Amino acid sequence: MRRRALLLAAPALLPAAALLPEAARAQGAAAPSAMRVAASFTILGDLATSVAAGRATVVTIAGADADAHHFQPRPSHAEAVRGARVAIRNGWGFDPWFDRLLGSTQFGGRRVTATDGIQPIEARPMPGHNHGSRDPHAWQDARHAATYARNIAAGLIAADPEGRAAYEAARDALAARLAALDVWVREQVAAVPEARRVVLTSHDAFAYFSAAYGVRFLAVQGVAKQAEPSAQQVANLIRRVRAENITAVFVENMTNPAVLKRLAQEAGVRVSGRLYADALSGPEGPAATYEAMMRHNVALMVAAMRNEPRV
Ligand code: ZN
Repeated sequence: MRRRALLLAAPALLPAAALLPEAARAQGAAAPSAMRVAASFTILGDLATSVAAGRATVVTIAGADADAHHFQPRPSHAEAVRGARVAIRNGWGFDPWFDRLLGSTQFGGRRVTATDGIQPIEARPMPGHNHGSRDPHAWQDARHAATYARNIAAGLIAADPEGRAAYEAARDALAARLAALDVWVREQVAAVPEARRVVLTSHDAFAYFSAAYGVRFLAVQGVAKQAEPSAQQVANLIRRVRAENITAVFVENMTNPAVLKRLAQEAGVRVSGRLYADALSGPEGPAATYEAMMRHNVALMVAAMRNEPRV
């Protein structure tokens, strides 16, 4: 919320920049006449901001720490997407409310589905939570985030062809950073003995991380967090935590930690910290950007899997 308000307010705060787009860019703000881009949630908003290279203003709807699975836009959000020339969604059932929001504002601009071209993982079936849909959390693999960046750049270029060179340069710079991030994650995980590469989290958001980086994840709740676990499921998880001596136990920033905290207590393990799964933190938090989120999560997970004392 705060971030969006700041972005919308920026042109008003920088009247001189209206005449000097280069100056506006240097200050990290888009010129008032800049194209507006709407992103459904924070991770897309951050990647889009990188690709936009100061030529476009990015408005993010579901903000920091928000649960984008079940987000309910308010009238102020319709106002925020009005006039956008590009709208970016994750797709795969993650943000259908965003499509409805665009429909309600008669959005006529270019639509980008960030997951286009990615091979989906089928959502893990959870007892009492029966759907065979695609798992939407593709961004947890840094290589997929690079695909997101390519799809976003294609959308921005289509809507603003004059910006092609700027968007392509920003996209390529971001892709290079994401490739380095991908290598770094692999190095970090490699420092953990294979049998110790297990993490228990609140909801099932890490299937792509698991597939890419070889860490097993146990989750208390399903992909979209709708199903409360049964007593039997909780008992089974407690048994596994004890049997495998699992020490990496995490709550997530956008979920209610109650079930997981109770489970950890009953299993006799402490909660290792808070992972950022489906939303970034605010600007002062540890996961203000996608790259910061990945580095924060991996550093926490690796220390907890190795059962190192917390800092
Ligand atoms: Zn999720």
